[in-house]
Amino acid sequence: MTNRTHDLSHLTVLICGASIAGPALALNLARYGARVTVVEKAPALRGGGFAVDFRGHVHRTVLTSMGIWDEIHAHQTHMGRQSVVDADGHARVDLPAEMMSGDVEIFRGELARIMYERTKDRVEYVFGDSIATLTDTPHGVDVTFENSPSRRFDLVIGADGLHSHTRGLVFGDESRYLRFFDHYVAGFEVPNDLGLDRTGRVYSEPGRAIALGNYDGDPDRAGALLVFRSERLSYDRRDIAAQKRILAERFAGMGWEGPRVLKALEAADDLYFDAIAQIHVDRLTKGRVALLGDAGYGATMGGMGTGVAIVGAYVLAGELALAGGDHRTAFAAYESRIRDFAKGCQKTSGNAGPFFAPATERLIRSRDRMYRLLASRPLAAFFKRITEKSATAIKLPEYPV
Ligand SMILES: Cc1cc2nc3c(=O)[nH]c(=O)nc-3n(C[C@H](O)[C@H](O)[C@H](O)COP(=O)(O)OP(=O)(O)OC[C@H]3O[C@@H](n4cnc5c(N)ncnc54)[C@H](O)[C@@H]3O)c2cc1C
Repeated sequence: MTNRTHDLSHLTVLICGASIAGPALALNLARYGARVTVVEKAPALRGGGFAVDFRGHVHRTVLTSMGIWDEIHAHQTHMGRQSVVDADGHARVDLPAEMMSGDVEIFRGELARIMYERTKDRVEYVFGDSIATLTDTPHGVDVTFENSPSRRFDLVIGADGLHSHTRGLVFGDESRYLRFFDHYVAGFEVPNDLGLDRTGRVYSEPGRAIALGNYDGDPDRAGALLVFRSERLSYDRRDIAAQKRILAERFAGMGWEGPRVLKALEAADDLYFDAIAQIHVDRLTKGRVALLGDAGYGATMGGMGTGVAIVGAYVLAGELALAGGDHRTAFAAYESRIRDFAKGCQKTSGNAGPFFAPATERLIRSRDRMYRLLASRPLAAFFKRITEKSATAIKLPEYPV
């Protein structure tokens, strides 16, 4: 493998979004010397979000190459068993940890922080700002910002999530690309009233479910995940109070820990709320602009989005290095390597809604029967192999180091 062309110090790259995909690409590009700017609309790096996991040799290779495998292990959650419970809190099914948590599991916010810390001295982060307009020219992309002065970059990468603003500006309206899966999900921190210690509980009623989990052994805090079945809702994504009202309505009268969880929701300052949906675009790149992570091939829930985003960032940076910064060559290679891989992962993570919140009592009972089967040792191993299969269905080229 030649490393003649891998110096990218002549290349300026603007990345939009500083969650997982954005900092992962910044980290990979900075290793090749590229001059990277990351613009994030939140005023600071966002914490919060549920635990995300990595599985199989592809994730391991990428994270090792990025130099963060050991740190992820040092901050892993050590989540244990999760149980499906009835309204009185009695376990109906126990799901072993290895079925749910991959090889290593870490909080989304913690992972973002690790990558940010590793890059903040080499990468320019601009918080509290966003792209206003993009004009792709033969010599670069002219960018105006909401707050900062206009600048020109060689490349612009949209890593701004499922509802990507960059995608909207360059590829067209979200309605062309977003497939809605009839459910919404919410996550926020709650007091650890059940005294959970690295364990989780899931309670379902027809069309809605509450999962409570304590991932880090903190006696005081737990994470709540709420899933409900719904028609498409129209609401302002910036209006947190409106999202809380939707949740309060949908979970009114919910048994088990429902009342306590709704009480905690009133005070929550870290609410994540989104449709369970996937993004399917025809192309991931156009001119000097590319989509990465959820912006290009996102899937809410199901454990795959973070792994695909990390692999996508590694491949995009590696192809740019191989091509000496020639974006036409690199973008074509990125498209062909990532497209099928991402599609396979989307298939595996497609059905998280009915998994948590089956539509009827009968479906809840048959889900529990299926869980009981899956939780038996041989089938749990089989289940793990299926998710691992899509997470490893890509042959990684040897990129310059
Ligand atoms: C706070 C938070 C909590 C999450 N919690 C969960 C969860 O509980 N369950 C789950 O399944 N997934 C969750 N996700 C999504 C999950 O992180 C992704 O599915 C996956 O990790 C891929 O990450 P991504 O970086 O591509 O997209 P995302 O993680 O969605 O990150 C996109 C980033 O772009 C930023 N951004 C958006 N618009 C603009 C703009 N116009 N200008 C600049 N920046 C912009 C966002 O603030 C965000 O930081 C969460 C994401 C965030 C940001």
